[in-house]
Amino acid sequence: MSEDAVARIEGLKAEWPNNIGLQCFEAAYFVTLSEDGKARLLNCLNSGIENPDSEMGCYACQPSDYDDFKPFFSKVLARYHKVSEDTRHVNNWSLDGIEGLPADGVLDLARLGLPALSMRVRAGRNLKEFPLPGSMTKDDRIGLENKMMAAFEKLIARPDYGGRYHSLTPGNPCFIDDAAYQELVDQHIMFKNMDNDRYLTAAGIAADWPYGRGCYVSADKGFIIWVGEEDHLRIMCMQRGTVLNDVFDRLKSALDLVEGIEGLEFAYSDDYGAVTSCPTNLGTGMRASLHIQLPNLTSDGTDKRAKAIAKPLGLSVRGAGGEHTPIGEDGTVDISPSARFCITEAEIVASLYKAIALLVEEENKAA
Ligand code: ADP
Ligand code: MG
Repeated sequence: MSEDAVARIEGLKAEWPNNIGLQCFEAAYFVTLSEDGKARLLNCLNSGIENPDSEMGCYACQPSDYDDFKPFFSKVLARYHKVSEDTRHVNNWSLDGIEGLPADGVLDLARLGLPALSMRVRAGRNLKEFPLPGSMTKDDRIGLENKMMAAFEKLIARPDYGGRYHSLTPGNPCFIDDAAYQELVDQHIMFKNMDNDRYLTAAGIAADWPYGRGCYVSADKGFIIWVGEEDHLRIMCMQRGTVLNDVFDRLKSALDLVEGIEGLEFAYSDDYGAVTSCPTNLGTGMRASLHIQLPNLTSDGTDKRAKAIAKPLGLSVRGAGGEHTPIGEDGTVDISPSARFCITEAEIVASLYKAIALLVEEENKAA
């Protein structure tokens, strides 16, 4: 059984040089694992085996996978994040000492001549007590949602949070119908149907859709927690404005509050920081993004040019509806620093501020 799997992976490995999971798989390490260990590691690789065109090609399926399968994941992390195999991640939200920022530490986009934009910062988090989404049973997914609904009661009771939970689980007391769900997706509050994503499906992450899926939204709609997407939780602040610190600082205090709720323990690795399903997100789990119009760089109707200019600035370009969606009709794109691992949270938000100035210069030159 596992000999067949090794032969299949070795065959794919030769054929798909850009699939990181396949490339980092080593039969010599694999054979040293117990039967259970072998099955677990193969599970992590399944998405990349089923979709050999994947760039990452693997997901962690248990909170301890990065540590338990370090000889594999340290290679994956080194290759994707361009760090050394013995690297250690350090979390830090303080902007103190970061070069190139205004002296008062206020990251105000208006200082760069930009108008109010939609700003969003999210952090992926997983609870230590459940398998990661790739290995969850339907009962696990519903159990996680119920646990989080009890925690959300604490937020809902606070005047500074309030709001409500919206569930996609049939029969859940907070159930919302398809139309209400679609409205939340259109408002960029709720995540898309995961069944349409072949990578998440092959990873087992999309299984049992829509059970155990939902989102908490604060009364002012500026603080949101997704339940049951690629990570157990995606915790985010989103608001229109120009001061990046507003969303960044609010996220930090909200994360501390959520983590302080009794019974919620987030999964961390001593060496790697916050544990996330996808190795691309490990460490900070953070993506800080802006929705911005780049009509000149997108005048051909695609994000090709914007991507070519953004990449050397360390920025990723996504469509207006998120990853794998097209740019908006008015040239709106989603811009975020690409780095998540072996970078601090503060450096991520600072690099968004610094790099967006350079990107806007290029946009203006392209006029
Ligand atoms: P992530 O993987 O960071 O959670 P996705 O690319 O999957 O993000 O997008 C999720 C949703 O968040 C989409 O609806 C997307 O349009 C929305 N989104 C991302 N950044 C912003 C932003 N700055 N302003 C408004 N909506 C945003
Ligand atoms: Mg996503």
